[in-house]
Amino acid sequence: MRQYDAVVIGGGIGGLAAAATLAKQGISTAVLEKNPSPGGAANSFIRGRFEFEVSLHELCGFGPDDRPLGSARKVLDRLGLSDRVEWVRLPEAYRLITFDEASPIDAVLPFGTDAYIKAVERNAPGSEKAVANVFRLAAEIRAALSDLGKARTAEERKKTLLSHPDFLHIAAKSVDEGFAELGMPKRAADILKGYWAYLFTDCEELSFLHYVNMLNSYIELGSVVPKRRSLALTGAFCDCIRENGSDVFTNAPVRRIRVENGAVAGVETENGSFFPTRTVICDISPAVVYGRLLAPEQVPAALRRKTNARELSGRGFCVYLGLSRSAEELGLNQYSWFIYPDMDTRRQYRDAGSIETNRIQNTVCQNAADPGASPPGTSILTMTTLFSSDCWSEAPERDYHRQKDAFARSMIDTFERATGIRISPYIEEMEAASPLTFSRYLGAPGGAIYGYRAAAWDSILARKMMDGAPELGGLYFAGGFGMNLNGYSSAMSSGMDAADRAVKGGRFS
Ligand SMILES: Cc1cc2nc3c(=O)[nH]c(=O)nc-3n(C[C@H](O)[C@H](O)[C@H](O)COP(=O)(O)OP(=O)(O)OC[C@H]3O[C@@H](n4cnc5c(N)ncnc54)[C@H](O)[C@@H]3O)c2cc1C
Repeated sequence: MRQYDAVVIGGGIGGLAAAATLAKQGISTAVLEKNPSPGGAANSFIRGRFEFEVSLHELCGFGPDDRPLGSARKVLDRLGLSDRVEWVRLPEAYRLITFDEASPIDAVLPFGTDAYIKAVERNAPGSEKAVANVFRLAAEIRAALSDLGKARTAEERKKTLLSHPDFLHIAAKSVDEGFAELGMPKRAADILKGYWAYLFTDCEELSFLHYVNMLNSYIELGSVVPKRRSLALTGAFCDCIRENGSDVFTNAPVRRIRVENGAVAGVETENGSFFPTRTVICDISPAVVYGRLLAPEQVPAALRRKTNARELSGRGFCVYLGLSRSAEELGLNQYSWFIYPDMDTRRQYRDAGSIETNRIQNTVCQNAADPGASPPGTSILTMTTLFSSDCWSEAPERDYHRQKDAFARSMIDTFERATGIRISPYIEEMEAASPLTFSRYLGAPGGAIYGYRAAAWDSILARKMMDGAPELGGLYFAGGFGMNLNGYSSAMSSGMDAADRAVKGGRFS
């Protein structure tokens, strides 16, 4: 077996970014992926005449060519991959629909800060100044987070915080507290909170700076998807890794990380291969690494406590629909809908803990961004929701298929009711994925597709402040369970960051 300088466990987009970053520097790296194809959630599957995207609704942090900003742009530009993927820019930010009887909302929000502020003002008169202030603060938040990312010691981090007083002031506030402090009218706040389900922590708890940083990233730079689905991104990473002399192995589930003298010594696969190495980057959950891949005595007690204290983020449920009518014929004129009973996010989060009461969804129509996403005269609609508990694992096994089908139908009903668009008669292909599907396919505990929950004590700032030396000699984490919380851009950035830290930590000298 060839000896590699580094081994990456898990070939999701975070692990691939880590491996490509190392490979580009001539550091030989093996990616070990348990599934038959790499990419993790960044994948697609085929049913009948449709190719469905598994996960990606929108990639943020990838500014256009004339404004090449954003965290995803930074990763892909550095690796020379931005131009190796054909991108489609999304037509608008989102359409928000709520059923709130007292004050229902049906608003289409555009990309572009000025256009967005004006659209909110049209829907919530008197909000313009407060909304503009949110974006002013967002610029400060972005600068402070970027400076914090560069600080390497606790002292440097403290100094950085003190040099950004507005940031420091807002740092401890929740989304709801931050909007209240800015004098935001309730209806405008509700509209701005449209993306809350992407972070899936209720706005009474969700960190203001985290949310606003994400909102700004979407609105300022817009969003993209690869024309050939996220698999195109996965393919670009794999090509980069292989062209630079490293390898991606599929059907290679990892069974154990071998540790000697308090540092990693190699990785064993279920198939009996052993990869000796001094550096391991895990693109999988720390709970799996500490609970299964390491022997109990090798895991420091503090690490076990920290891992056990963290809560899982949303457990995913998706309905993938191939429709026998074009988007135009059906009136699917938007790309992305957020549909919520109302904007009481605390209640919605609680109700998302049960199969009976979860009624939130984000639905995307691929054809609204790329008319050629499915054969002529057809369209693809993907509905996603998240669960805030393990209710799917707790449900009796004999009811599983019936419940999955019934819940998928209820999501279709909700969509039809919210938009007035009939899709049921035109369903040609339908596939549903529950948290159990995601758990099995990605190896993510509970089917949590967004890593750890951004709880108040475990938000982006807290994680950045705790950032330090690797937790066990030569062991690093990348991806959705890593430092930057969930999402494609975050997973890629944390992969690149893990690789950089391993290099700076002298692992390869
Ligand atoms: C339905 C859905 C919709 C989403 N929508 C968006 C969106 O619109 N925008 C966005 O930015 N993000 C979105 N996300 C989140 C995004 O997909 C993830 O944050 C990101 O893909 C995580 O990448 P990752 O590399 O951390 O992990 P994963 O993609 O989970 O990859 C982990 C990999 O590790 C492998 N693995 C696990 N255990 C082992 C083992 N023992 N040995 C070897 N390999 C192992 C798995 O097979 C998998 O390939 C969505 C996710 C889902 C599921």
